[in-house]
Amino acid sequence: MTDPDCIFCKIARGEIAAKKIHDDADVMAFHDIRPQAPVHFLLVTKAHIASLYDAGPAHQAALGKLLVLAGRLAREAGATDGFRAIINNGRVAHQEVYHLHMHVLGGPESLGPMLARK
Ligand code: 5GP
Ligand code: ZN
Repeated sequence: MTDPDCIFCKIARGEIAAKKIHDDADVMAFHDIRPQAPVHFLLVTKAHIASLYDAGPAHQAALGKLLVLAGRLAREAGATDGFRAIINNGRVAHQEVYHLHMHVLGGPESLGPMLARK
């Protein structure tokens, strides 16, 4: 499924340019337009899934692929000493783009704590 108005569907269809680092039938990866770490790319499913709230058994293979690809792509992008994988879901997590995506963020320096402590 693809959404005509969704920005990541448009990237998947090639209608909007992105610095792609992986592309296959199920998933693609491209650099985040506003990087928050020296390595910062997004892994997205080709299918339009709004968030993990909307994921079902039909998406299992593609979502597994996101996890399996993350380490290899992180290493290839230069994050050889650790990285963080983040999926923001919904309002509380400040999800901006409602097309499921996994952020991969990496060093070389420490990324700091997972969340700022209050
Ligand atoms: P979210 O807050 O939804 O987890 O993250 C959305 C991410 O998508 C943000 O980090 C933002 O910089 C990135 N982003 C938004 N629009 C574009 C775009 O058109 N191209 C690329 N490469 N990244 C984008
Ligand atoms: Zn989409």
